[in-house]
Amino acid sequence: MYNKNRVYALMGAKLPIVILPREGPEPHDSGCAMGNDKTMKPYAEKFYKGTNWQQCREAYAKSKGYLCEACLKQGIFKPGEIVHHKVHLNPKTILDPKIALSWDNLELLCRECHAQKHGKTKRYKVDSLGRVVIL
Ligand SMILES: [Zn+2]
Ligand SMILES: [Zn+2]
Repeated sequence: MYNKNRVYALMGAKLPIVILPREGPEPHDSGCAMGNDKTMKPYAEKFYKGTNWQQCREAYAKSKGYLCEACLKQGIFKPGEIVHHKVHLNPKTILDPKIALSWDNLELLCRECHAQKHGKTKRYKVDSLGRVVIL
């Protein structure tokens, strides 16, 4: 469970912003494992349950005010739930701290934005002339 008293405030914002998280899984349970959160890849399980990652993701999420970075860019304040690896983890990259644990490679996202990052909910494409084509 989330700590209900935790205040999701964005540092630097002019108005105090408080977003109460909806009921959901404990943030520590969610990690980006090649874009499939439900069936964690066996090689990733050890990593995601390890102290290094738990501390890394918590510190990173905290630094982002626990808000989805992609939503924030659109002016939407929404709690981030998944710390996504921009360079995806695989059996090789997961052993490289510069990829697996580097803040440069992390992005805090809500479920919807995370799914989009992995192309799960893509319903359009942009053609060579920059036009949006509905698929
Ligand atoms: Zn989002
Ligand atoms: Zn991801």
